[in-house]
Amino acid sequence: MLYEINEKALKLECEGKKIIRLNLGDPDMATPPEIVEAAYASMKAGKTKYSSSYGELKLRQKIAELHCVKEENVVITPGSKWGIFATMYLMMKNGGNVIIPTPYWTAYDLIAKSLGAKVKLLKTEMENEWKVDLNKLEDLIDEETKMIILNTPNNPTSKVMDTKTFDGIVELANQKGVTILSDEVYAAISFVKTKSILDYGRESKHILSNGFSKTFTMTGWRIGYLVADKTFIDNVTKLNQITINNVPVFIQDAALKGLELHKQIASAIKAKYQKRADLATTKLSAAGFKFTKPDAPFYVFPKLDGLDSEKYTLNLLDQGVAVAPGTSFGDYREHFRISLTAPDDQIEAGLDKICEAAKQ
Ligand code: PMP
Repeated sequence: MLYEINEKALKLECEGKKIIRLNLGDPDMATPPEIVEAAYASMKAGKTKYSSSYGELKLRQKIAELHCVKEENVVITPGSKWGIFATMYLMMKNGGNVIIPTPYWTAYDLIAKSLGAKVKLLKTEMENEWKVDLNKLEDLIDEETKMIILNTPNNPTSKVMDTKTFDGIVELANQKGVTILSDEVYAAISFVKTKSILDYGRESKHILSNGFSKTFTMTGWRIGYLVADKTFIDNVTKLNQITINNVPVFIQDAALKGLELHKQIASAIKAKYQKRADLATTKLSAAGFKFTKPDAPFYVFPKLDGLDSEKYTLNLLDQGVAVAPGTSFGDYREHFRISLTAPDDQIEAGLDKICEAAKQ
């Protein structure tokens, strides 16, 4: 349904209808000019050739420094989505199952299914602050469980996992010998402090997935990275060798510039999204929606008792606003996801229509 709504929104736009697009996590802001200039300078310097499938040493060293690991623990991937695909491919190409707490980012489920892996969904609820129930998690783990996927801050709820739950999941995974893939693509721009899977020490075999799309407004550049033990990084590199070979060096140079300016870029982005989140929460609360306050930029995942989110979303699209139905993120018919990734005036107009449509 997520992709169906997007296609329909594009079609309506082609027909000349104005659509306020609050359905995707693609920021409206431009990539910071310093990053664009760094790519241009790199291209002009002739960095347009094949290169290492691990990624550029300077970039890996900078990422390693940021996460207090060694560069041998870092591989550069074309977007974090590819890193997640590569990880799931390597861990599950010979079968097994993966546990995914919901609501989830749709791609995890689709990737697992594309590999023929079994998916075990673990439902969490807004009423319980989206907390993973550790007993339920333990019940789901069996001999075939290869991986648990965590996503904090979460898409679509923008909730940061509380430390106690995170500690409990890591402890359980360590006891049972299950690998955690921790997708922390929104962590650097979180409004609140977040804990990383890397804070649990490198002796375990857990894997961090991260990227540049969200922190640096670089969605279209396609660059991300994985942090893991050396053997796993070597295996992802082998996969890179027979597929993408390497992320273009000028894009890696641009990403390096982003990391050098990390603090100023991330804080500017955070401030902008905090204002949008405040506006959304004020308007949605006044209209009677229930939700957990976003801990991070981009998304709100409101609920209205008795809502049929697929019908509501299609109706809203006819009125010129695209959002994503809750059913795209698991069994959440009464929820829908709003992406705060459009210009401020459009977000405001979109929120007004969202609130108005809920009364109909
Ligand atoms: N993880 C999550 C939770 C996401 O929401 C997204 C993008 N919507 C990604 C990963 C992929 O990001 P990218 O491939 O652009 O790094």
